[in-house]
Parts: sequence; structure tokens; C-alpha cells
Amino acid sequence: TPVTIIITVIGVIAIVALVTVAVLQNKPLLQKYKYGIVLDAGSSHTALYLYEWPAEKDNNTGRVEQIHSCKVKGKGISSYASEPWKAGESLTLCMQEAERWVPSKRHRETPLYLGATAGMRLLNMENSSASDKVFQAVEGALQRFPFSYEGARILSGQEEGAFGWVTVNYLDDRLKQGLETTGALDLGGASTQISFVSDSYDGSESPSNSVTFRLYGNDYNLYTHSFLCYGKDQVLRMVLAQQTQSGPTSILDPCFHPGYNVTKFYSELYDSPCVSDRKPPGAPEAFAHRGDGNFQQCQEVVRTVFNFSSCRYRQCSFNGVFQPHLQGSFGAFSAYYFVMNFLNLTDTSIPLQAVKEKLLQYCATSWDQIVQQHPGVKEKYLAEYCFSGTYILTLLTEGYNFTSENYSNIKFIKKIKGSDAGWTLGYMLNLTNMIPAEAPDSPLLPHA
Ligand code: AMP
Repeated sequence: TPVTIIITVIGVIAIVALVTVAVLQNKPLLQKYKYGIVLDAGSSHTALYLYEWPAEKDNNTGRVEQIHSCKVKGKGISSYASEPWKAGESLTLCMQEAERWVPSKRHRETPLYLGATAGMRLLNMENSSASDKVFQAVEGALQRFPFSYEGARILSGQEEGAFGWVTVNYLDDRLKQGLETTGALDLGGASTQISFVSDSYDGSESPSNSVTFRLYGNDYNLYTHSFLCYGKDQVLRMVLAQQTQSGPTSILDPCFHPGYNVTKFYSELYDSPCVSDRKPPGAPEAFAHRGDGNFQQCQEVVRTVFNFSSCRYRQCSFNGVFQPHLQGSFGAFSAYYFVMNFLNLTDTSIPLQAVKEKLLQYCATSWDQIVQQHPGVKEKYLAEYCFSGTYILTLLTEGYNFTSENYSNIKFIKKIKGSDAGWTLGYMLNLTNMIPAEAPDSPLLPHA
């Protein structure tokens, strides 16, 4: 009958559509998926990342993908020290979004982690009871959701550096194939990390900079270091502290654009363990922060935050911290990417001299013009790109010793195959045991 024909045709169309969708997404039909959620509680903001992977063959490299991310409105959780409940509350909207993204059937089995980084490391140093209260608030808020809450904690600098490295190399499929790995450069607001495998380094020279992994049957000796206070927001405080040591009522800052003029409060500037011991006694309440737009002078001031005078190892980066010879290629992400992308400087095949010239010209541009040329860019970010670009260049070339020869080994990246570069994915892979120590088909340990 015509009705059966119509039903059959609709049925066939539905099956064809299902198969097409599955083929287009490169997903097997009726494949079950698992999910995992990691909250990155950074110094300036919190972001939620949702990962998905096929329920079977969890051990396959490159199979975990970020399917959603959510930027929490407002500041980082460490800024709620005096009103901790707000830290918990701030996470609600992103968590509700995650609830909608994960199929209800999977909610209870979906692990949920929160990792805090240098913002909370600093708050914990400054006021550990305030940091405990922030964690209690966050924990209370997260436990109200139907996921499997696996805890909130502060990551050590080594973990932050090492998991960023795992993420980059996992996403690039380098671990399972035992390929040469990529180093990781991460720049946050309160700390910065450098991690890479070095053949000339066995870990004994400076054990605190050494992390060893056995992944898919390969051993990795990773060099990693996290510089607390060397994230770009804290370095800016140090650079401003440097310029306000005599307690002036006005400064002409070479790292800000000519015509820039904003009132800053001493109490706010010096309210961080990175600078608190340098607060000038008897300083006035505020100072006029005025821009002068001079890249070379800006670099001079930025240099003062690095100490190159003592090194008790064969070689150091700065502040007496051991660093082996740079080796291989590097992915530079988070604020490295935001800043270099804004400045149109992500192309590292251009000579370092050209980077300097670009910054020279950019810093010298008047604040009026900058604001006019970039409508829609947040003024706080906009005001700081000259400073941040100068800091990044100085950190890379003078701090870590990148040269004209190896600058092009750096790639400024935001995402790899759709997933954000950062420590969160590596952290989750580790905590869910998703990267086996041995290769799954290793002849010695077939099911390690
Ligand atoms: P954290 O919150 O510690 O992960 O640090 C992130 C850093 O990136 C902070 O210094 C932020 O101010 C900065 N940041 C985030 N988004 C942008 C952007 N679009 N442009 C410039 N800086 C940014």
C-alpha cells in the first residue's frame, strides 16, 4: 500500500541520514562515549573543559577530545578571598552547561576535577585559611551537581608544567608513536612554565626540575620549571613596583602607550606576595600611571625582574634556576598565544629583529589611536599588549635563551585538533589512568 511505501522510504532516509552523520563525524554507529570534566581555576579566570572519548579502547592515544569549553564569568577563584561563597557560585552557569552537554545517563559516571594554579598558590602563601575557605565554597558548589566529584586542589608548579607537556604531545599523537616530543611553554597571569625533554639531562643535576614518565612503553625524562610570580600580571606588578620605589604620585611608564593615564592605588598594586615586601614606606594613596611608549626602555625595566647574577649549575635560565640546553620544537600557549596573536606575531619564521621593530612601533602608538583601532577589545587587555609583548620577547630570548637560530622552533598555539593546549587534558588523562605505562600491545606486558 502507499502507506507502507512511504514508511519504508522514511525508514531508509533515516538510516541513510544516521550513517551519513556517523561517517561525516568519523564515529562508529551506536558507539558509547565517556566524559570527563576539568575546571582550570587560573589566577585571572576559571574555565571548564569537557572531554569525550569512546567507551571502549580508552587507551588509544589521540582518542580523547575536548567537545566543549566554558569561560566562567568574573575573576579567578583566588580573588574571592574575602567573600568565598561567590567563588562557588561563580561556577554555576558553566556547570549547568556541562549538565546539558553530557547525556543524563552518563552524569553519575563522569569524573569532575578542579585544579587551581598560581593564583591560589599565592593566596595559600599569603593567607592559607582564606584559601581553605575558597576551596570549601568551591567544593560545596561542585558537589551539588550530579557528576562524580573527584576533588579540588592546588597543582604544584611541576604538575602544571608536566601536564601541559603531556597534553601537547598526546594531542599531537607523539607519545604512542614514540616520536620526538614537543616542549611546552605556558604563560599564565601568576606563573609561567617551561617543560621539555632534553637528552643532555638525566635529572640528577636539579632533581626538583625533573619529572619522569613511562608512557606507552617509552621513558621520558622531562625537564620542567614553573616560575611563580612570572605570569604576566604578576610581572607587571613587579615592573610597576620597580618604577614606584620612591613613592611618586605619577610615573611615566615606557611599557604603556603615550597618552595613557590611569590612577592606580598603592594598596592594590602591592597586594600580592610577589611585591608586598617592596611597598615603599610612606607612599601616597595613589599614583598617576602614565604611558611613554618606548619599547627599548620598557625592555630595560622588564630586564630588572630577572636575576642573572648567580648560577650554581652548569647553566641557568634566570634566578639561579637550572635549565638544560633548549632542545626540539616548542608549543607556546595560553597568554603567549593571546598576546602574540593580538600583535600579529604568531609567525615565528620572521626574524627576531622584525619582532622587536613591530613592538617598537606598536608601543610608540598613542593610546587614543590604539583604542580607536581596536573597538571591542577589552581596555584592560588592550592597555597591556605593549608590556606583555615586551615581556614575552624578553622572557623567551633573555630568560630562556631562545636565539635567532631557534626562535622559529616555537609555535604559538591555542588549540591542537580542536582541544585547547593547557594542563587540563594531561591532568585528566593521568587521573583516569588513560595513558598506560606500557604500549597496549607490548610483547612483555600485554595488558599493563
Ligand atoms: P591565568 O588566569 O592564570 O590562566 O592567566 C591567563 C592570563 O591570560 C592572564 O594574564 C589574563 O589576563 C590573560 N588573558 C586572557 N585572555 C586574554 C586576551 N584575550 N588578551 C590578553 N591577555 C589575555
